[in-house]
Amino acid sequence: MNNNFNKVDIGISACLLGDNVRFDGGHKNLIFANKVLNQYANYHRICPEVGIGLPVPRPTIRLVEENGQTYLRDSKTGLNDYTETMRQFSLHKCQHMAHLNGFIVTSKSPSCGMERLKVFDVDGHQQHKNGVGIFTQTLMEQHPNLPVEEDGRLNDLPLRENFIERVYTHKDWQENVAGSDEIKDLIDFHSRRKYQIMAHSYQAYKSLGKVVANHSKAPLDELKTEYFSTLMLAMKNIATRKRHCNVMQHIQGYFKKQLSTDDKAELTALIIQYKRGLVPLLAPLTLIKHFLKNYPNNYLEQQTYFNPYPLDMGLNG
Ligand code: SF4
Repeated sequence: MNNNFNKVDIGISACLLGDNVRFDGGHKNLIFANKVLNQYANYHRICPEVGIGLPVPRPTIRLVEENGQTYLRDSKTGLNDYTETMRQFSLHKCQHMAHLNGFIVTSKSPSCGMERLKVFDVDGHQQHKNGVGIFTQTLMEQHPNLPVEEDGRLNDLPLRENFIERVYTHKDWQENVAGSDEIKDLIDFHSRRKYQIMAHSYQAYKSLGKVVANHSKAPLDELKTEYFSTLMLAMKNIATRKRHCNVMQHIQGYFKKQLSTDDKAELTALIIQYKRGLVPLLAPLTLIKHFLKNYPNNYLEQQTYFNPYPLDMGLNG
């Protein structure tokens, strides 16, 4: 089982790292980023508003809708329009982000926000809350498979774990499949991620299996593009208790000849207790890992399901 992980490369809004770059001269320190993830990540900080030359402190800016288009303008007068400058800056920065495995952005910012931003009309009345910050919108358009998450959502433990899982999946892909012209590397990737993908979406696991199985019918680059976008979309599904139980029951099947009746009953009981929320996922997983030690199985041992990211991050409930 792989317990060795290289550092991941994470882009991040600079104010989340404690940089005093916000409009009011303050920051928005994200504890998870500064106390936990910093031990596992190389950070690539960016403040788009400072990047386009705005001062600190500065007048606030916001998203304004006019004739069906969204603009980035200063909140008070609406006279200064930063939309094109911000788009060009973001496009330029995005050209140098192919090495990133994920990006953490600041919520509610008209530059960095990922979703549900307030959008106003030219008279200053709020129109809706479906806006996306100009920088992050460009980032997600240019790198559609890159895991992107907001600071606020990372305080939700299932969303935090999901983001980290996607980041490490992205890194595995970049390191082992993206630059390879061997179908074998795609097949290996799919094989060792079988149960992890199933925990997110059984349907996606089936679809991805078909993509890999069709490898003689399409150019490898096309297959890889289809596979990776389907995978990264599927990984956004939260791995629920029900899905985890389904996966663990599949895995239990590998031991049916070796385990005693008592061992089987113990594992079944733990899986049921986990399903009911009485024990954490680690309880049945630890027992499965113990069985794996006693009854080695190469196929199971390579499964990223058991170690999707460094477990000492303490994310796994
Ligand atoms: S939210 Fe983005 S633009 Fe605003 S201060 Fe933070 S990094 Fe800069």
